Amino acid sequence: MSHAPHTNAGLFERAQRTIPGGVNSPVRAFRAVGGTPRFIARAQGAYMWDAEGQRYIDYIGSWGPMILGHGHPAVLEAVQRAATEGFSFGAPTEREVELAEAIVAAVPSIEQVRLVSSGTEAGMTAIRLARGATGRSKIIKFEGCYHGHADALLVKAGSGLATFGHPTSAGVPAEVVQHTLVLEYNNLEQIEAAFSAHGGEIACVMIEPIAGNMNFVRAQVPFVKRIRELCDHHGALFIFDEVMTGFRVALGSAQSLYAQAIPGFRPDISVFGKVIGGGMPLAAFGASRKIMGLLAPLGPVYQAGTLSGNPIATACGLATLHEISQPGFFEDLSRKTRRLVDGLVAGAQEAGVPFAADCQGGMFGFFFGPDLPQNYNAVMATDKERFNRVFHGLLDRGVYLAPALYEAGFVSAAHTDADIDATIAAAREALKA
Ligand code: PMP
Repeated sequence: MSHAPHTNAGLFERAQRTIPGGVNSPVRAFRAVGGTPRFIARAQGAYMWDAEGQRYIDYIGSWGPMILGHGHPAVLEAVQRAATEGFSFGAPTEREVELAEAIVAAVPSIEQVRLVSSGTEAGMTAIRLARGATGRSKIIKFEGCYHGHADALLVKAGSGLATFGHPTSAGVPAEVVQHTLVLEYNNLEQIEAAFSAHGGEIACVMIEPIAGNMNFVRAQVPFVKRIRELCDHHGALFIFDEVMTGFRVALGSAQSLYAQAIPGFRPDISVFGKVIGGGMPLAAFGASRKIMGLLAPLGPVYQAGTLSGNPIATACGLATLHEISQPGFFEDLSRKTRRLVDGLVAGAQEAGVPFAADCQGGMFGFFFGPDLPQNYNAVMATDKERFNRVFHGLLDRGVYLAPALYEAGFVSAAHTDADIDATIAAAREALKA
């Protein structure tokens, strides 16, 4: 079949000739939901337009970064100015220091931060740092949490509780994941048992505090509290992967919410990405001065990057953080996200469809099932067929959600109440259809 050259289908056909699967990141291919991916031509505010000129209200926001919407004037200006000053120097700049200072100021658990170019890089290095700091090899992660595609993290649970994981990707040797233990999210018994069996060998526990890679699942407060205690007792480090939640669910990130519920709570290492780059390739990891002092050039843990702290990316990130730090920003964003979620719940009720939804700050999730799932298996037990139908129903009506049921959604400051209400109206129709 041959399609017109500037249609989505035509571009997809052409893309598949020179790019594997036609995409540079797998979920963009619409494999989970079926159909043809939209080729985006441009975006402004809360909207994106595809190659055929169709407009969409955007609830992906580049998978999280675009918290101000697309083309925010202050961000655009900062990026344009930075571009004229130079693309990359491979030498330190004042702007990197400013961005580090902004991150440290917003997140009390962090005294020092290093900037990198992707969440994968940041997560991979956080693990190396934890292993370097503890002199231990074993790591714990949770099923359904994604921390980037470093080899040691592409793992699924082994057959028994105390067994280590199996690679989820070809090309990852079993030896490389033999130190990775994968446990069920929100399962206290499993984490207790893992520390009983291996306590003295565990370098770190890594978690998405609100797991956005299995849609939207909160780590329960007693679960986080117990992990903190177990880590302290056994000398392991607790890593919060806030690539998605960082500067998205609150200015102080998800850890600020847990600190409200658990007095004195802090993770040992935090990982950021997405919002801190405002749509440019930028991510970071941070911790106490003591832990960060182990990194090269001060200490023995190696890490480096040609484009790390890139001057245009830091300009974009700084301008973004400046905007989201304004008084009332998160209150307004949270209110809009809540309006969307409440409207979707009401629409589902009206249509008699089992439905549960949750949100925090500018991040939300919804499930076709009666209750909010608490772990990966429960997410996967929700109604995937219905999700796929509603996804396409909304796409046809000009609403762009993440093309898979295990992804979170994002509202930006550019979404108006009218956009939200139009989305709810479209969802009502799609739910009834
Ligand atoms: N951690 C989390 C929680 C993420 O959501 C992601 C990406 N979606 C990553 C790490 C990896 O980030 P990147 O895609 O920038 O490598």
